[in-house]
Amino acid sequence: MNISMLTDSHAHLDAIEFDGDREQLFLEMQQAGISGALIPGVSPADWAKQQQIAAAFQCPYALGIHPWYCPTDIPAAVALLDRQLQQHLADPLLVAVGECGLDKPRAKFAEDDVRRVAWEQQKVLLDAQLALAVKYQLPVVLHAVHCHAAMQALLQKYPSCHGVIHGFSGSYEVAMQYWQMGFRLGIGGLLLEASAKKLRSAVKRLPLPALLVETDAPAMAPAALRPARNTPLTILAVVAEIAILQGKTAVLVSEQLQNNFVQLFER
Ligand SMILES: [Zn+2]
Repeated sequence: MNISMLTDSHAHLDAIEFDGDREQLFLEMQQAGISGALIPGVSPADWAKQQQIAAAFQCPYALGIHPWYCPTDIPAAVALLDRQLQQHLADPLLVAVGECGLDKPRAKFAEDDVRRVAWEQQKVLLDAQLALAVKYQLPVVLHAVHCHAAMQALLQKYPSCHGVIHGFSGSYEVAMQYWQMGFRLGIGGLLLEASAKKLRSAVKRLPLPALLVETDAPAMAPAALRPARNTPLTILAVVAEIAILQGKTAVLVSEQLQNNFVQLFER
């Protein structure tokens, strides 16, 4: 991993939104001092393309099943993930399990709504992926939306499990609980919104070693970019905002954030 440059700790660069100009985007990222991004896994159907793009652009990646894509046959999908992890464990670009997690609002849609994912199934799918992360001694990339009590209860089953709570938007207190459990907080474009008061006051007080920086591109575009897609280039504005909130220079913050990323994911 390139230490002198910054890495976006969470960007779906395998998404179709980037199929038209991926090479151009990587050139622009290089020129801006962004070496690449960790590409998180979403569902078994997307792993092959994701691995191909990670190899082509030498990006670290994670393999996992996102709660929105919870399969009907969970044991079969988990067995497939187990085989994929085993098969690619020697690949230095495979750095984590994920993204996996819990999303309470998705469990609250009506029974016949395609967006609905039953809460119990989400928990079973996450539990199995945490067990795989422990088995292969890999960190986890977690998606955690309105579920912190349930998430922390599940994480307590796996004390050696560590990783990142990606797209963190919670309070200082919740952030410190995760940090004490071995999890960093992935801070993205939401920090640029003046309305994100809880997150902004958390980032102001949190220890810098607890933070990672991310964009979740192409999703989560900050207001200034909308309706255009988000890209890893947004990371520079997020770093600058963390520096302002922490009262430190952007250079120091950028170096520390990259150190945090390397510490967590380097194999
Ligand atoms: Zn994501």
